[in-house]
Amino acid sequence: MKIYNTLSKRKEEFVPIEEGKVRMYVCGPTVYDLIHIGNARPMIVFDTVRRYMEHKGLEVNYVSNFTDVDDKIIKKAIEEGVDASVISERYIAECRKDMAAMNVRPATAHPLATQEIDGMLEMIRTLIDKGHAYRAEDGTVYFRTRSFKEYGKLSHKNLDDLRGGSRSLLVSGEEQKEDALDFVLWKPKKEGEPSWESPWCDGRPGWHIECSVMSKRYLGDEIDIHAGGEDLVFPHHENEIAQSEAANGKPFARYWMHNAFLNIDNKKMSKSLGNFFTVRDIGKKYDLQVLRFFMLSAHYRSPLNFSAELMEAAKNGYERIVTCVENLKYLMEKAPEREMSGEENTLTAQAKGFEDKFDEAMDDDFNTADAIAAIFELVKFANTYAKADSSRAFLEALKEEIVMLSDICGLITEKKEEALDGEILKLVEERQQAKKEKNFARADEIRNELLARGIALKDTREGVKIERVQG
Ligand code: AMP
Ligand code: ZN
Repeated sequence: MKIYNTLSKRKEEFVPIEEGKVRMYVCGPTVYDLIHIGNARPMIVFDTVRRYMEHKGLEVNYVSNFTDVDDKIIKKAIEEGVDASVISERYIAECRKDMAAMNVRPATAHPLATQEIDGMLEMIRTLIDKGHAYRAEDGTVYFRTRSFKEYGKLSHKNLDDLRGGSRSLLVSGEEQKEDALDFVLWKPKKEGEPSWESPWCDGRPGWHIECSVMSKRYLGDEIDIHAGGEDLVFPHHENEIAQSEAANGKPFARYWMHNAFLNIDNKKMSKSLGNFFTVRDIGKKYDLQVLRFFMLSAHYRSPLNFSAELMEAAKNGYERIVTCVENLKYLMEKAPEREMSGEENTLTAQAKGFEDKFDEAMDDDFNTADAIAAIFELVKFANTYAKADSSRAFLEALKEEIVMLSDICGLITEKKEEALDGEILKLVEERQQAKKEKNFARADEIRNELLARGIALKDTREGVKIERVQG
């Protein structure tokens, strides 16, 4: 399996640190509003990477954070006159719903920045002790960028080039920095903002430190893959490397993966430009599997332009697969019960051959476009050879093959229907019990867990109602 590594700027054979296991960290969203489909791109892409690795027999420990302390969250909280946690909790719940609807599996762990402050204080202290960070007069703690000799290795920027233009990087209040390139690890609180005590001042963390700390806590000092959108290469990931490697004295991540932007009219889709569609908007018009199909129809490192025509094309493509599976199921119901014929055996072996094609595409830096093309070939094959008098076993084998490959892309998950089973009902009961005992933290936790599985709970006068988020 080859992965394009931003660090080396080439495709490299993937060799995990620990055999058979993958430690993977994906930078998650800042939760101040509904996510847009640009944010959905890394979610879908890296969820597919995870699924494919599992298909290859690797055990993936997949961690993705929610950034729940940030200027934009605080601004919205002030506008609504509520606590910042009200805003972040609301949009984490909404984000989990969207993820479930896009068939993006919940991470092994979804840590929150505000729950990891102790770890951040510890790492900052280590950086200060090692001479990589310093406290300025007002209590702000800065990372001493030039103390980390390899700074720039990910974004392939040269410190001297950066320094040339760096004076202009200074914004007011930052004159206290030793060097314009230094970045914030901890900053003093402002009136009305969430803050925590620290040895340097009451305040809150800078943005980059959270990912270094959560990655360390949940995956260890050295991890296999660190991923996110390409806008994160600099400064976010560059700064993460500096913090982690300076503090831990070990290489941080072996492979750095970055998805290209989802554009609209060839401009990056973003909140600040106002040129965005939320996942919720798209979900009103399309099954969100269609959005998933659309995202995977391009290679993750190619920019992808969003348009109504391309979504329609994605809808047609996706439906071709679904219709084929439906048709096979229909034929299976009426199929004669008999052994597979010799010819059917040969055809079944041929059908399995499409899996090799699929794997070959995915092994080449997750070329989902070619992988989907392989599924299409298989669909065409099935449409050609599935007949009214085919044996049930043959039809089933075709169907299984299509569903298996589609499921690696997260496109068709037959098992989804089984989700509303005993385990879920048990969780609902546990939540009722927790509420009775006024253990609201646990009750909320269960609600979020269910949301992540596409199940919404509504408390009504008649009791709890269970609703599927996805139609
Ligand atoms: P943010 O909430 O802005 O930190 O973004 C969360 C994730 O979405 C990051 O990995 C970003 O790089 C990614 N992202 C944001 N906008 C886009 C876009 N238009 N296309 C692709 N990825 C994006
Ligand atoms: Zn991050």
